[in-house]
Amino acid sequence: MSSLTEKDRPIVQLLLSTGTCPRCVLRFCCVGSQLLYRHPHQDLMKDLQEFLKNSQEKEDTVCLDAADPPCKRIRLEHSREEGADDLNLNGAVPQLPSAGRGNTAMESSAGKVCNVCLGILQEFCEADFVKKVCQKVNSADYQFTSFVFSVSLPPQLSVRESHSLPRLFQTSKEQTGLDSFFNFTVQSVFTRMAVIKALERIKEEDFLKHFPCPPSSPKNLCDALEIQCNNGAVFVAGRYNKYSRNLPQTPWIIDGERKLESSVEELISEHLMAEFKADSFNFSSSGREDVDVRTLGNGRPFAMELVNPHRIHFTAEEMKRLQQAINDSSDKIQVRDLQLVTREAIGRMKEGEEEKTKTYSALIWTDKEIQREDIAFLDDIKELKLDQKTPLRVLHRRPLAVRCRLIHTMKSEYIDEHHFRLHLKTQAGTYIKEFVHGDFGRTKPNIGSLLNRTADILELDVESVDVDWPPTLAD
Ligand SMILES: [Zn+2]
Repeated sequence: MSSLTEKDRPIVQLLLSTGTCPRCVLRFCCVGSQLLYRHPHQDLMKDLQEFLKNSQEKEDTVCLDAADPPCKRIRLEHSREEGADDLNLNGAVPQLPSAGRGNTAMESSAGKVCNVCLGILQEFCEADFVKKVCQKVNSADYQFTSFVFSVSLPPQLSVRESHSLPRLFQTSKEQTGLDSFFNFTVQSVFTRMAVIKALERIKEEDFLKHFPCPPSSPKNLCDALEIQCNNGAVFVAGRYNKYSRNLPQTPWIIDGERKLESSVEELISEHLMAEFKADSFNFSSSGREDVDVRTLGNGRPFAMELVNPHRIHFTAEEMKRLQQAINDSSDKIQVRDLQLVTREAIGRMKEGEEEKTKTYSALIWTDKEIQREDIAFLDDIKELKLDQKTPLRVLHRRPLAVRCRLIHTMKSEYIDEHHFRLHLKTQAGTYIKEFVHGDFGRTKPNIGSLLNRTADILELDVESVDVDWPPTLAD
């Protein structure tokens, strides 16, 4: 046990005699070399025994670089309530064992569950458990290039480790660092925080009245309750065209009843979910269109977050094939510029949404007959300011407000005495249907008031959404 020095001797003796496992002994003696911790539990116990017998220092210069462990999340829990003998109400602090009682120390620690780590650095550091973790990773079949191995420790450890042992070392050894060498990433859970907060409030003397220092040995070993694999989310972006006037953007479900059989979101996501082998997804887009509105031109930017994907590596060629598969599966939508993007890049789709412009094409009906000259003046109107009260049709889900919007330009196209087509370039967020029919005077001015007759909208198409994201891809 070359990393230990003569001044560690009383610590080793005390810890072993109170049921601390060899790996915990090492870390509380500030042994930083990985190599030692990798030795089997039994060997370490023998080494510590040797050290107590013969505390001569040796040099240990070997350093191993082992292969990276697999991506895992392990939740450890001390399954049963600790026995009453864990709570030493008499507050008896164990006596430091006198030198020369190494054998006694050995005997009391051998085969016991560690009083500090509850066995986590015993069982769960042995090859058998590592094998179990590896098997789980392999069977979960994930693609990954880097990983985080995190362990969620039972909250009891906060009491045993962070609280009672520092006190021990304040008195028995100077400058004992308590930073564990093992890089466990502890998942914060409420119960742990509650324990830590409670510990912060307890005075040292009060704590020692109720909890022995060092802590007594538990009866049961910690259980590894769960080994979970999780991949970080990946993000896919693109643009979609919608060619159907009977297709909502997202599933249309009212009171648990589906109104239309599919949606843009579902037509795209089913392919992505299958290819990325993800658990779930989140769909977002630059604005949205009504169920009866088509989206033409270059389409509407969208992004899809794929949660816990098993497959994450796709070449540009594979993404192109995936896009083709989506496009072949339905004539209601088409997708272009499908690509993997970063989480940060998605913000670009949403930023400055209010300032963006959109162009539309509306088929308009009028009650009174029109001639070409009746509508020609619309072409000369620039930057027309509208006051739009929240439309009646969305009032059930949006607050009542009056919003100012701009119609940048208009271009009329005469069809017959009761119909014409109007091309509009507008500020994003303008309610086009309401601008045409007026929404019972809630949008002023409107096409009806401008033409001095009743107007209604028969069809609406989005011609372009002017957001230059995601990047256009070459075909
Ligand atoms: Zn231990």
